[in-house]
Amino acid sequence: RIVEVESVSFEEDNNEVNLRPSSWDDYIGQEKIKRNLKVFIEASRKRNEALDHILFYGPPGLGKTTISYLISNEMDTNIKITAGPMIEKSGDLAAILTNLEEGDILFIDEIHRLSPAVEEILYPAMEDYRLDIIIGSGPAAQTVKIDLPRFTLIGATTRAGMLSNPLRERFGMHFRMQFYNHEELAKIIQIASTKLNKYCQNDAAEEISRRSRGTPRVALRLLRRVRDFAEVENEDEIHLKRCKYALDELGVNESGFDEMDINLLELLVSNKGKPMGLSTMAAALSEDEGTIEDAIEPYLLANGFIERTARGRIASIKTYEMFRLSYPNSGKL
Ligand code: ATP
Repeated sequence: RIVEVESVSFEEDNNEVNLRPSSWDDYIGQEKIKRNLKVFIEASRKRNEALDHILFYGPPGLGKTTISYLISNEMDTNIKITAGPMIEKSGDLAAILTNLEEGDILFIDEIHRLSPAVEEILYPAMEDYRLDIIIGSGPAAQTVKIDLPRFTLIGATTRAGMLSNPLRERFGMHFRMQFYNHEELAKIIQIASTKLNKYCQNDAAEEISRRSRGTPRVALRLLRRVRDFAEVENEDEIHLKRCKYALDELGVNESGFDEMDINLLELLVSNKGKPMGLSTMAAALSEDEGTIEDAIEPYLLANGFIERTARGRIASIKTYEMFRLSYPNSGKL
């Protein structure tokens, strides 16, 4: 049973709800994380205990929420979904925690955005399944302790670095989500295309996967758009020719970069090999620093298009080659 504690809307839920994998077999990739989780899940079931708290971190759209649903399926427990910014006051969190049942999973997305006062409430809750509530203020203040059911907190964040140490340390498992390779994305696309009743042929699925920034959410968004093109042409399946045409029409770059990636790379290239600081980049791109660090940079870093130095970011040789420009530092960084 899935309960949304607050009306959290996950961007694509309206369209995509049916595309979310409901079994481990449909959850492609992240093999190491799945292997580990299966062991921990089995162990906690054998001991008849709640699963230890889990932290998932990594760029958006890589499947943190989806894997949390799968864990709750596997543990046969309820999952309650909320997000850091929705829990404004400590009382909000206290209300959520006291409504949990034994073994429930509480999923907090963007957990790095909890306020310090709310975090304080979480510490004893995570460690001792206890709620410490302070009633009154000044010398007359009293602490009331309330026992909580044993629950599992799953925290998801794009910025593990922004989590306070005490909070990070209270998670028994930390998993870093990886970008997906082309074969994995192609599989995800094919499974989803079957669910959408518009089978995507192998070479078309590979084409979409190459242009998806290693991210299932992007792959599925492109798949839906390509399907629209095939639909209008009355085609039963998605084939390579239509797929290429549609992706070109949508302006999706051959290497999967979107407009923001290209703008960022062009900006760094224009700096002629000198490092550029994050705040300068943010101002030049009219984008906030957090978005650059969490959503745009990780893919470019992971694929070697940019490098981070102590003094800022520089474009790599690979980027200069992509723009057919000569590398200003002639190989020396
Ligand atoms: P955010 O942090 O931005 O909410 P997320 O990491 O929680 O992102 P999800 O919402 O879980 O990402 O995943 C995005 C979409 O991609 C989901 O709707 C799901 O259908 C699909 N997806 C993610 N990971 C996988 C996977 N490993 N196999 C198949 N589909 C996946």
